[in-house]
Amino acid sequence: MQAVLSMIVNHAGMGMKRLGVLLALLVLAAVATAAPFADVKVQKINDRVYALLGPTDSPNKQNGGYMNNNLVIIGNEGVVLVDAGSHKTVAEHIGQAIKTVTSKPVTHVVVTHHHADHHLGLVAFPGVRVISSDSCAKRIEENGRGMVSWMSRRTGLNLGDTIPVVPQTRIPSKSRQAMEIEGVRLELIATETAHSTGDMMVWLPEDGVLASGDILVHTINPNFMDGNLKKWIGVVDDLLKLPLRVVMPGHGPLMQPRDVTEFRTLIGDFYRVVEEVYKSGGAESDVRKRLDLTRWQSLGRYDDMMGGNINKVWLQVEADNF
Ligand SMILES: [Zn+2]
Repeated sequence: MQAVLSMIVNHAGMGMKRLGVLLALLVLAAVATAAPFADVKVQKINDRVYALLGPTDSPNKQNGGYMNNNLVIIGNEGVVLVDAGSHKTVAEHIGQAIKTVTSKPVTHVVVTHHHADHHLGLVAFPGVRVISSDSCAKRIEENGRGMVSWMSRRTGLNLGDTIPVVPQTRIPSKSRQAMEIEGVRLELIATETAHSTGDMMVWLPEDGVLASGDILVHTINPNFMDGNLKKWIGVVDDLLKLPLRVVMPGHGPLMQPRDVTEFRTLIGDFYRVVEEVYKSGGAESDVRKRLDLTRWQSLGRYDDMMGGNINKVWLQVEADNF
């Protein structure tokens, strides 16, 4: 090693001190790209369906962007994966966890929506077929690079190796498509705008398992900022008609049907309170006084979400009542 180093030094005409600085920078760069992700919590749902559950904070420097859930559906020759994680190394981390449950390769990825934490990891699965709603694919096509910059700012990581991948198979919004992939029957439910424009859920009718994307989140505050809460409530009412056994939300632990009903009540109450304040001539600042804040404070990401959520729903109630 010493010999190699001095060879480089002699060759480059570089002093030992400068080389030391260079090596220190290289080490720093290595640390900056290899984020110490939390362990993937692997939860078996049945012999062919596994949930990989991640932490639930928004992407930040501490979690390095690993804060996702992924569903692993093991088919005949390969795996259908739901969502791909926040960037390339997060996806590699998820890929290692997949190897603990099957030796089959990932052949398909279904992306639930266009938010960066759900698809930027696609680059780590070269050659797979990627399926999303039409408008999700369009948004990735138009602003994939911007999403990488956003994730890079949030995590403080250099994400130069995270190249956005545009889904090849596009499902029209507000449609429900039954298909068989890798011998597994599944339904892709592309809803109207709920959590985001272009939301899509994956329903496994034979397993009673729903991967909801961020239309459902558990133990944390949902993010209303990019969606439409009134329509969202309708979408949750519809999904409650499915014979659900287990739901994997976009973030948070697995849900039972009663947890989904509770979530429906929670977001329903939010809209109702904002509308009541609006209709009684109150101001946006009155909403906090009327909401059951202790209930929302008991859920994660409260400080991140509540201000923006109230503002968003206030504007929507205004528009809905115009
Ligand atoms: Zn998300």
